[in-house]
Amino acid sequence: MSEREHVVVVGAGVAGLATALALGRTGRPVTLLERDRLPALGDPEEAFATERRGAPQSHQTHGFLARVAVELRSRFPDVLDALHEAGCTELPVNLALGEPQPGDEDLRVLVMRRTTFEWVLRRAVLAEPAVTLRTGVGVVGLTTAGDRPDGRVRVDGVRLDDGTTLPADVVVAATGRRCPAPSWLAEVGVELPEVVHESGLVYMTRWYRLPEGGDLDLDPKLGGDLGYLKYLGVPGDGGTLSITLAVRTTDAPLRGALADPDRFERACRALPGPDQFFTRGPLTPIGGVRPMGGLVNRLRRYAGPDGEPIVLGLHAVGDAHTCTNPLYGRGCALALVQAGLLADAATAHPGDHRGRARAYEAACREHVEPWFDLAVQTDRTGADPTGFSPTGTSPQAKALAALFVAGGSDPVVGRALARLWNLLDRPVDLAARPEVVARMAEVMSNPDDYPPPPSTAPTRAELLEVLGVTEEAATHA
Ligand SMILES: Cc1cc2nc3c(=O)[nH]c(=O)nc-3n(C[C@H](O)[C@H](O)[C@H](O)COP(=O)(O)OP(=O)(O)OC[C@H]3O[C@@H](n4cnc5c(N)ncnc54)[C@H](O)[C@@H]3O)c2cc1C
Repeated sequence: MSEREHVVVVGAGVAGLATALALGRTGRPVTLLERDRLPALGDPEEAFATERRGAPQSHQTHGFLARVAVELRSRFPDVLDALHEAGCTELPVNLALGEPQPGDEDLRVLVMRRTTFEWVLRRAVLAEPAVTLRTGVGVVGLTTAGDRPDGRVRVDGVRLDDGTTLPADVVVAATGRRCPAPSWLAEVGVELPEVVHESGLVYMTRWYRLPEGGDLDLDPKLGGDLGYLKYLGVPGDGGTLSITLAVRTTDAPLRGALADPDRFERACRALPGPDQFFTRGPLTPIGGVRPMGGLVNRLRRYAGPDGEPIVLGLHAVGDAHTCTNPLYGRGCALALVQAGLLADAATAHPGDHRGRARAYEAACREHVEPWFDLAVQTDRTGADPTGFSPTGTSPQAKALAALFVAGGSDPVVGRALARLWNLLDRPVDLAARPEVVARMAEVMSNPDDYPPPPSTAPTRAELLEVLGVTEEAATHA
């Protein structure tokens, strides 16, 4: 991809916007295609009031890990400034750090609605002379070149839903969780290998607005894992907050009950953490309960084990490439990381499809795949990803839970967990620090010395009683 070559990015969610911005700022002309019609939006409130059919998770609870701010600061500092102007705030992470150390300044999460994040990113893209955003344009397939370098298919454009084609030197699929790239590639004879692990969860989310002038000086322990229910309350910008109750896909009675807005709110009031939101004056609900399923860990491999690309001229970023259980809040950070990695690979290998693909996929294996692996492993242990009220019963879950308890007072463990959970240090980075390894091993081998704090949370049966439903009635609600 030389600097004059034309890039088509498909999908204007967080990953597509960031990729268009990163590639556009290397001087490449970029056309960004989005199937949803996106009206001009004046401010974060208008953005929040607008549904995103193609990205329904836009209105689900989003936490923005410290890595998001770190990536923005290094790649797009103007976007970080614009986010702050739009009402985004920062919160320090909630683990023991002891004496300040270099790098602690990065341990801050961003607080905003996902719709605000996307709105600000989109404004930056619209202001970028190298990028043209076309909305209401769906891509239905790929076009390929007649030549097959080394026998590999080379993508040279996209087919649009109006029957026309758009040529491109490079196509980037940023089409999200439901990315159709596998079927596009199958049509041109390429099989795209993937690894999938279901999270087995359904998100049920409701938004609220605080009373005018209300502030959220809260105990930051706003989440928990009760085994049958994982939950999280997250403040947003503009005086909003959202609460998500994540229920097992198989738990029809609880899911059915929580779909009812009144019962959802009764549940929130009964849960330690979210209950705090309701003690500071009346909250105004914004709409009903928004369910969302299909939550998976999924990795698509665009290169073989030898690092050779399976197709030329096509890359993927964001959820279209690596999707992780949303409970861990990694998606936006990883989308930004991949946007930067692709721009780096393009800069290092101008006009060289194979070189760019090898470099990008190798960088993804090193900097993105470890977070996919960790998500899958954590799902398997059944441990609480928020670390607030761990309930997993396996030895691994108990050991991980002990780490989170220790991390509340032990700075070695606290800093290590904070950096790991915010994608600032990979597991392999922590493993290279003898002090951290020794301290963690000590805690994990004596989990009974770090008992979880006593829980006041209801059991499943107690919660159903609070909701005023029997198992059977809830199943048929
Ligand atoms: C329930 C839920 C909760 C989440 N919580 C968090 C969180 O707390 N923190 C976090 O960082 N991440 C979270 N994520 C993940 C995060 O939303 C995504 O990983 C991140 O936004 C990157 O998304 P994306 O840009 O890859 O895809 P998307 O945002 O889904 O965007 C894909 C875009 O492509 C468009 N598109 C699709 N197909 C076509 C086509 N054929 N032609 C043209 N356009 C097309 C769609 O309309 C859409 O706009 C969550 C995800 C879910 C599902």
